[in-house]
Amino acid sequence: MPLIESWVVSANSAQSQFPLNNLPYGRYLDHALRLPCTAIGDQILDLRALERTGLLDIGTGDFFQHPSGINAFMEAGSDVWSAIRTRLIELLSNANVEDRDVVAGCLRPMQRTRMAMPFDVAEFTDFYSGKYHAINVGTMFRGAENALPPNWLHIPIGYNGRASTVVVSGTEIVRPNGQTKAPDAALPSFGPSKRLDIELEMGAIVGGSSQMGQPLTVAEADEMIFGYVLLNDWSARDIQAWEYQPLGPFQAKAFATSISPWIVTKAALEPFRTSTPEREINLLPYLNEPSPMLYDIDLSVTLQPEGQVPTTIARTNYNEMYYSAAQQLAHHASSGCAMNSGDLLGSGTISGPEKSQRGSLLEMSWGGEEPLMLDCGKTRTFIEDGDTLTLHGAAKGDGYQIGFGECIGTIKPALPFGRPGDC
Ligand code: MN
Repeated sequence: MPLIESWVVSANSAQSQFPLNNLPYGRYLDHALRLPCTAIGDQILDLRALERTGLLDIGTGDFFQHPSGINAFMEAGSDVWSAIRTRLIELLSNANVEDRDVVAGCLRPMQRTRMAMPFDVAEFTDFYSGKYHAINVGTMFRGAENALPPNWLHIPIGYNGRASTVVVSGTEIVRPNGQTKAPDAALPSFGPSKRLDIELEMGAIVGGSSQMGQPLTVAEADEMIFGYVLLNDWSARDIQAWEYQPLGPFQAKAFATSISPWIVTKAALEPFRTSTPEREINLLPYLNEPSPMLYDIDLSVTLQPEGQVPTTIARTNYNEMYYSAAQQLAHHASSGCAMNSGDLLGSGTISGPEKSQRGSLLEMSWGGEEPLMLDCGKTRTFIEDGDTLTLHGAAKGDGYQIGFGECIGTIKPALPFGRPGDC
């Protein structure tokens, strides 16, 4: 598909993350309100204001007057998603002369806008579906012979995370305190994590709902996915190592998850669909992918110590995943677990086969043994206070790109912990 030209001329540049082909959904902050919007070039389009002009009225009902903004729209289902997208393309395309002035009245410069959480997260589940990540971590902890757990090639392994601490890009992240035990220590101790890490992931956002007891086919699951965001699953490796057996990660992950401010829709990503890699062992039939359900999205991570230049520390692609979000969602519902609009599914850390394609510092520094050299001359094994970590993502089309914006987080020092007077 070629670039769809817009009368918002900044959207037509090959460098723009938000051409008319994209039209992601988000919410911007207007005093205490979070108002639904889309992005077009260097502008945002206020969808509540546009709906009030009557130009979005195509017989599907009002969604953007609702206090949650985007959630009400997501719940409306794929026919409505596609009708509104078609109408927005019509209104913003070069071909539209008649209503330009009215639509232009609902635009505002993106640079002067602060973004809020793009939607209300219902529940958050995180998976472990990147094969190279699982092999790297497994090799470090169990040796190369036993790198992949025996269930890994059969199940998209996951755990139920916390929705309460999913935050929008730009939110400062406080280094977590927690219980850890050094290998040579007799007893555990409590204090700031010393091995704070990122996980480069994509988040899939569920639009529709399923009933308790109702399984989903992979095709139905794909239909239910509204769109995707960049997701940083901040991880405290030392807390994780001590707590994770036998029930999986808990406090090591519960303190924060950052997501990018724009939900890039499945419709915008359609030209970039690609298949999951060839199966090493056939999956059970309920997990088979009937058509390509993964996407070709370039991803990268930068690390910037306070006051220094940023360094790109990893470049990889979403197409490295072994399981798609649709397969993860089908697996999630397979027991009868009810899935809801607003559920967020983390892909799992996305690493490629090369060293430069690793999506966590744990892998990049090989458990802290091989420090990374940064462009500013400093080195890192894990994250230090004041460091800013930024995820970037874009699907590259012919003369345009579908950008995800950025997912940024700066680490602040841990809070003092203890009873008053204890320090
Ligand atoms: Mn994760």
